[in-house]
Amino acid sequence: MSQTGTTTRAGTTADHPVVCARGVRKSFGDLQVLKGIDLDVRRGEVVVVLGPSGSGKSTLLRCINHLEVMDAGWITVDGVQIGYESRGGRLFHARDSVIARQRQRVGMVFQQFNLFGHMTVLENLIEAPVGLHGVPRDEAVRRARRLLAQVGLEGREDSYPRQLSGGQQQRVAIARALAIEPDLLLFDEPTSALDPELVGEVLGTMRELAAAGYTMVVVTHEISFAREAADTVVFMDDGVIVEQGPPEDVLGNPQEERTKAFLQRFL
Ligand code: ADP
Ligand code: MG
Repeated sequence: MSQTGTTTRAGTTADHPVVCARGVRKSFGDLQVLKGIDLDVRRGEVVVVLGPSGSGKSTLLRCINHLEVMDAGWITVDGVQIGYESRGGRLFHARDSVIARQRQRVGMVFQQFNLFGHMTVLENLIEAPVGLHGVPRDEAVRRARRLLAQVGLEGREDSYPRQLSGGQQQRVAIARALAIEPDLLLFDEPTSALDPELVGEVLGTMRELAAAGYTMVVVTHEISFAREAADTVVFMDDGVIVEQGPPEDVLGNPQEERTKAFLQRFL
């Protein structure tokens, strides 16, 4: 670890990869879903993951956020290892307290928004900072108001999710993910459940986050977002990373037949 990097809230140095995954495998019963994934995400990098349905994209995100327990390999988030394989091939897992602390550094946005329907927008935004992180309520409220303005929803703090459009709800979900001041943002098809006319506003918010320097891993089928906002495009198929690199290469000049075939669908 470098001595010169800026120390982050997580206590690691800024030039340490935020995510480092090696040899990650995961099966559900007989179905091998991840067949040995290696992935690095640098601080400030925007990685867009493309791939057909069932290729393992969500499972990979869920392993990074410890929502799934992998079968083999290892992943570090902010330099902290949460599971590893011993030389004998046995898999060890971090203690629950370590996993909980790690998860608090990761903001996740899901296809179905997953807002708390019985809470107002403001309550949704302050729940984790106050309840999990011990942030004083008035400070959390101030931060929530700032975040709402950032996602273009100033003044909507007293609305309930059902009173908002899908695009607005998803922007609240993004603000909620930001409210914990995450070191890493994971997006799992954040626009797939939206009516087409609402996709643009959510992608616009995500582009702003990318430009602001957030570290992001985004699973999406929005090729234009990948082209404009990604530093790295990862193409997954059948549990492996088939090809990865800058968007100009992977989208503009794919080398693998499977990547070419997949991209054909979007022409
Ligand atoms: P993607 O996000 O690329 O569409 P997923 O990671 O969601 O792919 O799923 C990959 C495969 O794993 C699919 O065949 C899916 O049905 C299966 N799968 C995912 N989660 C589970 C689970 N909890 N139990 C059983 N099978 C699962
Ligand atoms: Mg998925």
